[in-house]
Amino acid sequence: MRKAIGVDLGGSHVTAGIIGEDGTIFGQFEQDIEDRSFDAVVASLQGVVDNALKDGKAKDAIGIGVGSPGNIERESGVVLYSPNLLWTNAPLGERLRTRYALPVFVANDARCATLGEHIFGSGKGTQDFVLLTIGTGIGGGIVSGGRLLIGHRAGAGEIGHHQIRPTDGFICACGKIGCFEAQASGTGLIRHAFAVAASFPRSQLLDRERDKLGSKAIRRAAQTGDAHASAAWRNFAADLALGLANIIAFVNPELIALGGGVSSAGDFMLDSVRARVDELTTMVPRGTTRLEIAKLGNDAGQVGAATMAFQGGLTR
Ligand SMILES: [Zn+2]
Repeated sequence: MRKAIGVDLGGSHVTAGIIGEDGTIFGQFEQDIEDRSFDAVVASLQGVVDNALKDGKAKDAIGIGVGSPGNIERESGVVLYSPNLLWTNAPLGERLRTRYALPVFVANDARCATLGEHIFGSGKGTQDFVLLTIGTGIGGGIVSGGRLLIGHRAGAGEIGHHQIRPTDGFICACGKIGCFEAQASGTGLIRHAFAVAASFPRSQLLDRERDKLGSKAIRRAAQTGDAHASAAWRNFAADLALGLANIIAFVNPELIALGGGVSSAGDFMLDSVRARVDELTTMVPRGTTRLEIAKLGNDAGQVGAATMAFQGGLTR
């Protein structure tokens, strides 16, 4: 079976997988990222790719696919802009092509995850599919008529940066106010908890160091009925539902799969948004877009990046 190296580059770590053409994962390698400067990140990325290529299972690898945060120029693999890594015009593709003899493909990490999830995960067999990865931010990707949408300058699917609360929302990493990502990501849930804190003076929900404050603790408290956490969760879910209904209005998918760390909330999250999504769905029959938790979890990015290498690009 043909194999490729699929790399998923994140803000805190980089992983590389040896992936078969049928989506099988033959090995995975990981390295933390502490320094987000371009040279340091490239060194970590090359470290995991080198380890993958040294593995005997990768000996017939036909290419390297890399999913990176940011807006990425299609042919060159230049990361034009990444608010997460604080890069502009970073020549990622070129650096990797000078080091490896294999073909190298670079694209946005969420588009890669969407490709992986569409071909091998929850979107398998669907023609109209959306993946949202809900973690620190919200990444997305759209498959329409069986084809992953790329857009004029590779920006199609930036669902996280459509504004849902431009007048009263939180400030987004991209600089706008009230982006879907600012409101309905894990970070958004924490911000909702702070926003309603004044109404819960006896709550201990936020009594911990800021860097130890996670969205999971707030969600778990909401599941056990904590009043402060429940209020934060309701506002979070309302914003999530608003964005989901907008997606339905834009591309009318058969399925929206929710991935990323926050989706570990599973049915609790789906049950929190379904009724409101239906209420806000006006121009297509209600309840006809399925909402599910994505299947590939953290592997979607690697599998999709490798699929890009097999296909010779994000689309065939
Ligand atoms: Zn934004």
